[in-house]
Amino acid sequence: MHTSIKVGKLIGIPIKLHFTFLFILFMFIFAFANGSATEYRIPLGVGDLGLPALYRYSLSTIAAVLFFFTLLLHEMAHSYVAMNFGTKIHSITLFFFGGLAMMEEIPKSPGKEWRIAIAGPIMSFAIGALFYLLYTGLNALNLHFYHPIGILILVIAYFNIVLAIFNLIPAFPMDGGRIFRAILAKRMSFIKATRRAVLVGKIFAGVMIIVGIAKADPFTYILTGEWGYNLWLPILALFLYMAAAEEEKATTTFATLEGLKVKNVMRTERISVSDDMPLLMLVRKMREEKTREYAVVNESGDLKGFITLDDIKKIPAEQRHFFSVSDAMSPFDSVVTIISEEEDASEALRMMMKWQSDILVVKGGMREELVGILTRNDLAIYIEMLKGSV
Ligand SMILES: [Zn+2]
Repeated sequence: MHTSIKVGKLIGIPIKLHFTFLFILFMFIFAFANGSATEYRIPLGVGDLGLPALYRYSLSTIAAVLFFFTLLLHEMAHSYVAMNFGTKIHSITLFFFGGLAMMEEIPKSPGKEWRIAIAGPIMSFAIGALFYLLYTGLNALNLHFYHPIGILILVIAYFNIVLAIFNLIPAFPMDGGRIFRAILAKRMSFIKATRRAVLVGKIFAGVMIIVGIAKADPFTYILTGEWGYNLWLPILALFLYMAAAEEEKATTTFATLEGLKVKNVMRTERISVSDDMPLLMLVRKMREEKTREYAVVNESGDLKGFITLDDIKKIPAEQRHFFSVSDAMSPFDSVVTIISEEEDASEALRMMMKWQSDILVVKGGMREELVGILTRNDLAIYIEMLKGSV
């Protein structure tokens, strides 16, 4: 995906910004530079202090950068705990309303999951408390240039505390949803616990929509002492709803494969062709066997690569009679494409997702030879059928 840009690396983890996050940063800068310091019960910005625009926007940019780092620290806290459990972190991406630490494999053990989940809100609470202490400390010194800087510190404190509280709501995809699922998963199956936590997430999204359009927004109440509309809530709710549904889909997909081995789901017929077979002959074979992909082996049976219908399509039709299979095949990469027949089927799916590969070669037997092929398509159909039967 090219919707994110990499901005750096922290303790070995690549940090990425999703383009929607840039939108939030600019909005934050604008809101802080123009928000009122006096109108509400909580100062929102430095807009009405009579400061020059350059000063307001400079402060605003500093606030946005701080905001970015505190969000990052929240995600780093999740990642740090996960790394201590031996989980590899691919990257951290900051997007529309928060961050996401991409983990190699989220631990299914409830004891680990809730610890990873709670680390983020704890970090945000700690940052919030620290900035609030800084605010009261500086306030006591009564420095003449201080007021706008104080507001900046206070806004960062509020922001982090709201982030922590919001994330503790027991609904997917918030951290609280993960903690909630971990508690449930001690008493029921992982998949059942996920479904229940997702359901709470969807209900919560529904409540947010109603609260936002029914003039019952708590944030407005805190600011002004009166209930009001908040049309950001329905927008946010929509995102939460989609993320909750996504989580459910991913979990059920992996859960349906539980207990299955690669040998239970692989294809054992029509698996290989010889590398010196003329391409036109292969085209005919594909048509007859209604098969789009084969492993390619040489005459002594060694694996050489893959050939798919797409590989053939790359060669113009009028040139195909010059070629044999070895000219058109995709060469073989052992790390990405070999799996043992005794491996879990869910591991095969994980490999396909990780390496973006559509085909795996299955090896097995005493001599570790080619025993089958597993395609992403076959696996998807299999998962659909299993889902239909549960
Ligand atoms: Zn979090």
